[in-house]
Amino acid sequence: MTTALIYDPIFLEHITPHNHPERPERLKMAMGVLKALNWLERDGLVQMTPRAATEDELAMVHDRTYIQYVAAAAQKVAEEQLQGGRPTRYFAPNTYISARSYEAAIKAAGAPLTAIDAIMKGEIDNAYCLVRPPGHHALPDDTMGFCLFNNVAVAARYAIDHYGLERVMIIDYDVHHGNGTQDIFYTDPRVLYFSTHQAPFYPGTGLSEERGEGAGLGTTINVPLPATTGYETYEPVFRQVMAPAADRFNPQLILVSAGFDAHWSDPLGGMNLSTAGFAQLTGIIIELAQFLCDGRLVMVQEGGYNLDAMAACVATCVNWLLGDDAAVDSLGPAPRTAFRVNTDVLIAELRRIHHLTGYRMRNAPKPDIERLRREVKGPDA
Ligand SMILES: [Zn+2]
Repeated sequence: MTTALIYDPIFLEHITPHNHPERPERLKMAMGVLKALNWLERDGLVQMTPRAATEDELAMVHDRTYIQYVAAAAQKVAEEQLQGGRPTRYFAPNTYISARSYEAAIKAAGAPLTAIDAIMKGEIDNAYCLVRPPGHHALPDDTMGFCLFNNVAVAARYAIDHYGLERVMIIDYDVHHGNGTQDIFYTDPRVLYFSTHQAPFYPGTGLSEERGEGAGLGTTINVPLPATTGYETYEPVFRQVMAPAADRFNPQLILVSAGFDAHWSDPLGGMNLSTAGFAQLTGIIIELAQFLCDGRLVMVQEGGYNLDAMAACVATCVNWLLGDDAAVDSLGPAPRTAFRVNTDVLIAELRRIHHLTGYRMRNAPKPDIERLRREVKGPDA
């Protein structure tokens, strides 16, 4: 396996105020752990520098006036700083902008494009894009929830427009619903958006009834989950809802909105996944990519606000992409909770809503009855 780690120090220059959860230290820590493990020199790992997404590429999912508005806002902070102004300015609720935020944001959107180019040329098998600002809340014409441009959405459109792919799947296991990604592809049948997220929670979207519209009806799958949900529910959701839906859609490329704020230690999220749990979920995705699309898989960083947990999850995902199967888990399992989600009811309901009931039975390969009879009876029968 050849895995690309795509990262640029420019991502540290998107500056947020002191104590803001989405801070440069997140990526510093993740790179620090990868270095401390000596994993940057591992066989099969290549480090790549992202190219910037062009305005035309961004404009496939964002309005040009919005793109220029972000560029101008960063430029304004740069000019104010020359006059002694602050390094970061309020831009929208929870979202800030600094002198080099635009440069960081176009490289964050460019990172998965660099990955897709290398995959399509056969230079790498898969990639981890360690980027910020994150992207999945960004709307066509607006910033939202720490996000400036929708990195994963730009990537999906690029794969479709530039390489002529007809089906791209986005799997989003960030604790928040990726409302921006859903919006962008809500009527687009070429992109299957699958999200697990805490509900009720920010941003308030992602009900299971939101399934897409028009030609895109059925290509949005939302799995809202109550706070404290852990791996014992995530795993069957992935195996019994996500996997058959992916199999039915038959993607040619899988993108992951890799947010680790569903980790039990996360200060924003309220879920109970451990690093080992994230490792197993990532393993299911890797298996699916190998089975459905020659392993073509690009993971793109979204949230994750406990620095230790986020760094451990990044290292673990890189390890699994490389074909290994150990988790880097310094924080251990989630604390026990007082109640359990009724997983069977949840799965049955999701499978009903998305017409997946009996899918495996209908689509499983037919057994070779003659061979089975011979084996049961033995060679002399
Ligand atoms: Zn998040």
